[in-house]
Amino acid sequence: MTEYGYHKRWACTVCSYAYDEDLGDVEHGVNAGTPFSDLPEKWRCPWCGAGKDKFVPEDSLYEHWKKEGK
Ligand SMILES: [Zn+2]
Repeated sequence: MTEYGYHKRWACTVCSYAYDEDLGDVEHGVNAGTPFSDLPEKWRCPWCGAGKDKFVPEDSLYEHWKKEGK
């Protein structure tokens, strides 16, 4: 994660769900204001169940897809 530095919004590369640190993921026990880097390792994308390692900063999402050839 650290290679991207600090970002407020992180997007799932599988389903494009966006994690917003201001909103957290209250439904799954993550308080609003929780930095992405502080999410528990077992946290999963609420939409598709992908792990944290499938997330990239939201502004890098299209670049990531381009690199993957999607
Ligand atoms: Zn997802």
